[in-house]
Amino acid sequence: MEKILITGAAGFLGSHLCDRFLFEGYQVIGMDNLITGSLENIDHLFKLKQFQFYHHDVSKFVHVPGKLDYILHFASPASPIDYLEMPIQTLKVGSLGTHNLLGLAREKNARLLIASTSEVYGDPLQHPQKEDYWGNVNPIGPRGVYDEAKRFQEAITMAYNRYHGLETRIVRIFNTYGPRMRINDGRALPAFISQAIRGEDLTVFGDGSQTRSFCYVDDQVEGIYRLLLSDYDLPVNIGNPEEITILEFANEIIELIGDTPSKIKNLPLPKDDPKQRRPDISLAKDVLGWEPMVSRREGLRKTLDYFMDKVKENS
Ligand code: UDP
Repeated sequence: MEKILITGAAGFLGSHLCDRFLFEGYQVIGMDNLITGSLENIDHLFKLKQFQFYHHDVSKFVHVPGKLDYILHFASPASPIDYLEMPIQTLKVGSLGTHNLLGLAREKNARLLIASTSEVYGDPLQHPQKEDYWGNVNPIGPRGVYDEAKRFQEAITMAYNRYHGLETRIVRIFNTYGPRMRINDGRALPAFISQAIRGEDLTVFGDGSQTRSFCYVDDQVEGIYRLLLSDYDLPVNIGNPEEITILEFANEIIELIGDTPSKIKNLPLPKDDPKQRRPDISLAKDVLGWEPMVSRREGLRKTLDYFMDKVKENS
């Protein structure tokens, strides 16, 4: 049985990846320090003998006994509010944490896939973003702690790949949504859905003309799964290329909820908020045969059911 270590296992993406690899017959070790993750996301896995959980911060030395075939590094605060509140931890998990896992991967002769991000493109001047675009990042702005940690993470990963011949993979994740997103992580989707369910106004930052492209979590997980098992070691964008303005997105959610008094309320645009974002996924299509299958309408419906329960629990 192949064994995989998943860091950030109690987080949104990490927990879905645990599910997928268990489903595929792997033995899974989940690791998380629980500063943004929640055990609730993996509660259902503790009864499985193929699953183990280590409560550990990967910024400190990581020890895993026995063999290890694969490592997925998904630990990091990942929403703008989180990395503004935890700037040092964000820098450490992307840099020191990645370094520790690269060392572990060498020791175990394991293949390591790191979770990078569309944030490496910053406020992009090229549209849509292709993997060979170097980006437009403000290193000392509020998002710099995340963006630069992720850029360093890519650099050190490629260094281990080239210098030590380590097998590595890099996924650049664009905005992804679905069940198990934290209801209060400050992101547009959880904010809008929970506001609309409660009948509050939806807080659109700026005039809402900035764009994003939202990928449903099952599509994202499929892309990551294929990339890990592929032989392609340069960065690959995984995201949904269907682009929408944030204002349109907010209105779509009001429509989806239906019977709600919610309207749009404009608040100031946060500093360095990217004006546009949309992945060019031709590389993923070519090398992985991957493209998203779930439409926004369908994905939002599935996500809404989850948030309905969460909002009830929290009210
Ligand atoms: N946003 C918004 N209202 C909110 C939260 C976010 O208008 O309550 C905007 C935010 O300024 C950004 C977009 O929605 O332009 C997506 O934000 P999110 O935090 O989801 O992700 P990111 O900025 O990292 O893409």
